[in-house]
Amino acid sequence: MCGTLLIRKISLWIRWIYLFHIKNRKFWDIEVKKNHCWTWKRFLNVRGTLRPFIVSCIGNGESTSLWHDWWHPIGILSMIIPRREWIGVGFDDMARVADLVSDNQVCWPDRWLEKYPGLIDGPMFCNEEGINDKILWRDKDGKCKAFSCKQTWDDVNAFGPRFPWFNIVWYSNNIPRNAFILWLAVHGKLKTQDRIQKWEIKGNLLCPLCLKVNDSHNHLFFQCDFSCRIWDHFRIKADIRIFYDDWWDLIRKFGIQVSGRSVGDIIKKLVLAGCVSHIWHERNMRQFRAVSRSVFAVISCIEKEIQLKLLGMKKEVKSMKEEVKNCWGINGSKQKENE
Ligand SMILES: [Zn+2]
Repeated sequence: MCGTLLIRKISLWIRWIYLFHIKNRKFWDIEVKKNHCWTWKRFLNVRGTLRPFIVSCIGNGESTSLWHDWWHPIGILSMIIPRREWIGVGFDDMARVADLVSDNQVCWPDRWLEKYPGLIDGPMFCNEEGINDKILWRDKDGKCKAFSCKQTWDDVNAFGPRFPWFNIVWYSNNIPRNAFILWLAVHGKLKTQDRIQKWEIKGNLLCPLCLKVNDSHNHLFFQCDFSCRIWDHFRIKADIRIFYDDWWDLIRKFGIQVSGRSVGDIIKKLVLAGCVSHIWHERNMRQFRAVSRSVFAVISCIEKEIQLKLLGMKKEVKSMKEEVKNCWGINGSKQKENE
């Protein structure tokens, strides 16, 4: 039903829903209200579960929202780029992906490419040029398909087997950009040197972070000297006590041991995704732009991001111990100082 709602399949029921409930708003942004009927509330409540699976496949870009639809590999752009930045360069909330395309190329403002390097990855969900955009279902393996009840059930049902990593990647308080990079990493899909050497570049490549060996998922997370120092810092800070043999073993054990919704578990998940995403970002900056930061600068960046996230989780912060608040700099006095 959600699928037919999003692709606006013509039916009396869909017309009624748009007329009385959605109006001119985005389905994803509508607040649940007490006076909503039970069926409509149920629809709105399953959005969190369904969101990671519903993506826009770009054709001519004219029906996909630039900011609010999930069409770019790094996630929903309105959750990554602050609104004041897009307003500042002349876009508005109604902008479409087509507004960004010139001569068949996506043209990002230069300073955004510096600030958000993942933008140049381009649309992951591509349709043929010139034809209409499509909303598709992205299954658990990352393949885009047409909606089907069976596929939806297989991917979101809570009773069937779930991948052990599912809860550490997709949960309501994640940071979408970091979750996406972590999702690629748990699938072994980041373009590390051991992979690209097989089919793109021949010759000796060295990990840009330590310059010792080829980089790979195993090396970057977290055997590399540079990564190890970052991971060790956060392991102690977030009290992560997991002993593992390699990256895949870490993910498996992390999925089993850190699967809850407590603030402690959320922090651990934010830490893992933050470390993976920022180490990958640092690796790319060194590899492609010859720009490098120190271990401390990367740590500080991850800490600030997690701190900001925790400040926004008001309900969870209330149940947090004082020592944890102090540790992440989100106690009252520090907040006032920061203000
Ligand atoms: Zn290294």
